[in-house]
Amino acid sequence: MTTSRSDAARAAELIAQADGLVIAAGAGMGVDSGLPDFRGNEGFWQAYPALGRARMEFTRIASPVAFRENPAQAWGFYGHRLALYRDTVPHAGFAMLRAWGDAMPLGAFVFTSNVDGQFQKAGFSQRAVYECHGSIHHLQCLEPCCGNIWPADDFVPDVDADACLLRNEPPRCPDCGGLARPNILMFSDWNWIEQRSAMQAARLSAWLENVRRPLVIELGAGTAIPSVRHFSQGVVQRGGRLVRINPREHQVATASDVGLAAGALEGLRAIAAAMA
Ligand SMILES: [Zn+2]
Repeated sequence: MTTSRSDAARAAELIAQADGLVIAAGAGMGVDSGLPDFRGNEGFWQAYPALGRARMEFTRIASPVAFRENPAQAWGFYGHRLALYRDTVPHAGFAMLRAWGDAMPLGAFVFTSNVDGQFQKAGFSQRAVYECHGSIHHLQCLEPCCGNIWPADDFVPDVDADACLLRNEPPRCPDCGGLARPNILMFSDWNWIEQRSAMQAARLSAWLENVRRPLVIELGAGTAIPSVRHFSQGVVQRGGRLVRINPREHQVATASDVGLAAGALEGLRAIAAAMA
């Protein structure tokens, strides 16, 4: 009987062989920083009891219609999240990824469906992050009257968390004075302004052109919202390798790739231990 090397050790080997690190992150990446997972009504309503009492599903509050019908409630939800993400300290796994990327000739680039800005907060360059669903730290006009996107820095939400209502004035569009909303791709959203994300996508493509041996480390990206997985798959099809870290859906298609059945931080720690 042959002893197969542990998956974490094989992941460490793939890191050593790569010349560029692609970090592909879904919602599971934030869980270890203490961020809520919105999967399923139960978890969502636990995080936002007022929305649970109103039987308001995530797909309904996370939509432009919610901003039109009840701006104080929609901004109660997004203002609470904005404040939460501003206060969150990214878990130790972010720094591990940064160190591994820094050691590679072409560095690292992040592809994330998360809108929470945690990679930038963890010190990743603004120019090395593609946020495919936009960012809560940026605003746009709800209408929209124009294609402008601006930082949310000047807006400090005052939220009654029990009622999920914004107490202070919501942010306004500097051009028309109308209501502003987060520059996030929401559900049933035909007005998301994608210029910022499109520019990030172009930067990622240009960077990838130069990477000969890309390694994707995919974290907390389930099959329910497949954008991150599609992207990982695309890099693999172009000759890249994949380390998939996921507590429930860790399977990978080929034997050259590695699947770790673990949460993001746990999986990264196992790889770090195998490197040492
Ligand atoms: Zn406007």
